[in-house]
Amino acid sequence: MEAAKARALIKTGLLLLALAFGIPEIAARMAMLGVSPQLLFYAGLYSILFACLWSAAFIRQPLLRWGWAAILALAALVVASFQTATGDAMSYDAFITMIHSVGFAGDATAQYGEAIAWAAASSLLLFIAVGLKPEPQLRAPGPVIALAPFAGLAMLSGLLFIRGGEGARGLPDAWVGTSYAALYTVEAASMPSLSRQPVRLTPRRPAGQGDVVLIVDESIAGRYLDINDAAGVRSGLASPPPGVAVSNFGIAASITNCSYGSNLTLRHGGTREAYQQVNAVMPSIFDYAKHAGFETVYIDAQRTGGAYQNGMDDAERRKIDHFIQFDDTPVMDRDMAAADALIARLNDKRRDFILINKMGAHFPVADKYPSNAQIYRPALPRDESVAVTETRLPKNLYSSAESWRLYRNAYRNTVAWTVGGFFDRLFASAQLDGTLIIYTSDHGQNLHERGDHGITTHCSSSPASEEGAVPLVVIDGSRDWAATARRNFDASSHYRIFPTLLNAMGYDPKSVRQLYGDALDSSRPDPVTFNARFNARLGRKPQWIEVRRASLARPPVGDYMTGKAERAPGGSTTNMAGKDLPTDRSR
Ligand SMILES: [Zn+2]
Repeated sequence: MEAAKARALIKTGLLLLALAFGIPEIAARMAMLGVSPQLLFYAGLYSILFACLWSAAFIRQPLLRWGWAAILALAALVVASFQTATGDAMSYDAFITMIHSVGFAGDATAQYGEAIAWAAASSLLLFIAVGLKPEPQLRAPGPVIALAPFAGLAMLSGLLFIRGGEGARGLPDAWVGTSYAALYTVEAASMPSLSRQPVRLTPRRPAGQGDVVLIVDESIAGRYLDINDAAGVRSGLASPPPGVAVSNFGIAASITNCSYGSNLTLRHGGTREAYQQVNAVMPSIFDYAKHAGFETVYIDAQRTGGAYQNGMDDAERRKIDHFIQFDDTPVMDRDMAAADALIARLNDKRRDFILINKMGAHFPVADKYPSNAQIYRPALPRDESVAVTETRLPKNLYSSAESWRLYRNAYRNTVAWTVGGFFDRLFASAQLDGTLIIYTSDHGQNLHERGDHGITTHCSSSPASEEGAVPLVVIDGSRDWAATARRNFDASSHYRIFPTLLNAMGYDPKSVRQLYGDALDSSRPDPVTFNARFNARLGRKPQWIEVRRASLARPPVGDYMTGKAERAPGGSTTNMAGKDLPTDRSR
């Protein structure tokens, strides 16, 4: 009996220890509620969920008990990783985004290795606590014990459903994760399967003679390019060679602050009012291009092995004539390979529609540029993102202003290499006569210039407006966009790109506008907002966040040393750590 009690105590102790990792979230929820009846409700809910967790740990049948242990530990791992990395509660929207972003799992592991290790420690504790064999003497009434976890799951899922997916902050991660998964499964099963419509518009002869190109860069912050800020990085777009007309629309709003939603919508023309419906049932941009007589080309510098991303499927793939990835090219050279592939298409005398997903500057950025292309120092140490499997203790909880300064410098080096290098290469060899190129990024970046906490750059649940601030540029060899770009400077958004592309393909602008809204040359004002809740489900509404230049952090010039300051009169390199330099002068 004594041994049985000891075993029960050990299991309960481990369980409490695992839950103790959630104390910051519990404290945040309590602070949010204050002393109120809601606090009492929260405490009651937490206690019931704890009892259900405890019951799972005392289920007699080993298979059922270990099954719960595995499910609960996995759910806790997902939720706790996200929350440790972002320093914010995981919303249902963020959960769905995470499911859609599995393609980035490798990058996330590299960037957030420590946060994930921390979360893994708590979920391992939970796994053992629940799974460990309980002593037979302590068996409580079997059926009640076995049913309690199901009851807990049903109760929380129901509660979250009623509240539109909200209200999970500070509850045990294991239950939050399993409830989100249950909600998502039920939602997916009950959704009507919509079939995609064929192209119903009739193309006329297009205005231009050449190719139509959309370049979607990855994680490029609008203000970090020299075309948008004096402290920005060389983009290759500021002083193009003679004969190349670059029209800069300034800083624009992205569709949302995460790759999946922005890319899916850029390819299907979703509007602010009805993006879910439009993205689900309307033809893809490739379908429209084929219908208008273009050859269709998709250049994906991010994935390999024919893998799809951002919601592409076999049906969409069938409308793509040339599907190009760079399986054997090192990551840091992928954008150069993409530039070469684009040049080949531009110079081939055929009329192509080309969509490019650039490699860009998604985290981790320490090794996305060659060492001889390091302009800004001090930057993040190199060659470490390959060795992230070694677990380090979370120095996180977290990230100091100094680490973000190093990150920003590595980011600048990456941007100079991947954007500046790309356009230099393109302009050097491409025939651009009659070609329309629209350049933007899928979303912006929060690079924590204000010294704020957190370690996310984008996809956060409550994003800063920087996460939706992207560059927007039109390069056109047949039409002058300069006046339009001046008029709509800092006043456009991703939502205007799809109709612009259709117009360039020869579709009737009036019909295009009825279906997809205004194009980039419209004189009607754009709200310049991005959607912070792209997965607005369970009856909740999108959340629109404005992108205004005045509220965006400038790239801090104090981050780095100029080339000259690096060299002492004797020629020796000094001050490499940059300790004496002021930081963040622009604040
Ligand atoms: Zn992205």
